[in-house]
Amino acid sequence: MKVLVVNAGSSSLKYQLFDTESENVLAKGNCERIGIDGSRLIHKTSGKDEYIKETPLPDHSAATRLVVETLLDSEVGCISSVEEIEAIGHRVVHGGAYFSQSMLASDEVMEILNKCVAYAPLHTPAAIMGIKGCTAVMPDLPQVLVFDTAFHQTMEESAYMYAISYDMYEKYQIRRYGAHGTSHRYVSAEMIKLLGGKAEGTRIVTCHIGNGSSISAVKDGKCVDTSMGFTPLDGILMGTRSGAIDPAIVTYLMENENMSAKEAESYLNKQCGFAGISGVGSDSRDIEKAMKAGNKRAKLAYDMLCYQIKKYIGAYSAAMGGLDAIVFTAGIGEHSPYIRENSLSGLEYLGVRLDTERNTFGHSGTPVEISASNSAVKVFMIPTNEELVIAKDTEAIVLNMKK
Ligand code: ADP
Repeated sequence: MKVLVVNAGSSSLKYQLFDTESENVLAKGNCERIGIDGSRLIHKTSGKDEYIKETPLPDHSAATRLVVETLLDSEVGCISSVEEIEAIGHRVVHGGAYFSQSMLASDEVMEILNKCVAYAPLHTPAAIMGIKGCTAVMPDLPQVLVFDTAFHQTMEESAYMYAISYDMYEKYQIRRYGAHGTSHRYVSAEMIKLLGGKAEGTRIVTCHIGNGSSISAVKDGKCVDTSMGFTPLDGILMGTRSGAIDPAIVTYLMENENMSAKEAESYLNKQCGFAGISGVGSDSRDIEKAMKAGNKRAKLAYDMLCYQIKKYIGAYSAAMGGLDAIVFTAGIGEHSPYIRENSLSGLEYLGVRLDTERNTFGHSGTPVEISASNSAVKVFMIPTNEELVIAKDTEAIVLNMKK
């Protein structure tokens, strides 16, 4: 089945056209600067040259129309009729406590999705615009929503509750929801295959370390805890996000720096993490370069990340009653031997032994074991593939619908 996977941001629309049988990406691209001057589409059909079209894209419907036109283009596209696309799968960042699995879009589902806007006010309206854009251009196609929070809905109450007063939890549904669930689900499922295929009895820590980062504890194939919380600001430090801090720091800064609530939120999301500590920037490649050139604050940013990853691995091993495997994924998790090595050093007491040579592998897009042969805990780099999960979920729901 050909499934169009859409990841809509407020001013962007990323897409991949999948053949779900072969799991191949037939084409992919990104519409950038939607609603802003200088909008353009960058498109690549497998086996053909990259194609860039600069054209005004006032909204997500215009972007979707351009994507479909480009896919149909005889020179740069890969399909001859729009009917070849059988379904559309959308990435949705936050499904609150409403969605514990992927859902077929319907009026009722869209109504509930509107309630989720409050949890991710930047992301959810963009997903809704993406869905509406696709409805405008391909009104008859089934659309499936795949939620980043769904995989974390198996957490116990004791893991997802914050110790704020219960009335505030009830009033605002303030609790841990997590994020990157599609990625944690994918890499943990791949890890389970590598452990022999049976989910029961497996205890895995998945480390999604990218620009945004989160760590999950996955027991028997189900998420039991995760580092991101009510919003994607919780957990470990990230490119520009602080991660978890003493909540009193927020009110202290608001008082002493005369920050409004909005300013405090923006500060913690955009001026902290790697960028704030190092002063070098948010990209790990810049931090690594500066660190190697002797920049102490860049090294501090990296040391803090490694220490925090290590602490989560220890905490989640305790939560699961032991550990069978650790997975590193996403931009930094897949590409930084330094971060992997330094997060794992000192975890020998848990049975973790790294093969430092294997750890410096060249990334070829497939899983690589980086633990030593005598390591009781398997450690793997597994490239994440959220889009494939979205395509597969979409296919499954559409096939079920047709039954
Ligand atoms: P996002 O959270 O935006 O999806 P990614 O998972 O792409 O982010 O991760 C972005 C981070 O990964 C950046 O800090 C970047 O430096 C790092 N990264 C991405 N690709 C590479 C690479 N080839 N080599 C080293 N680091 C990389």
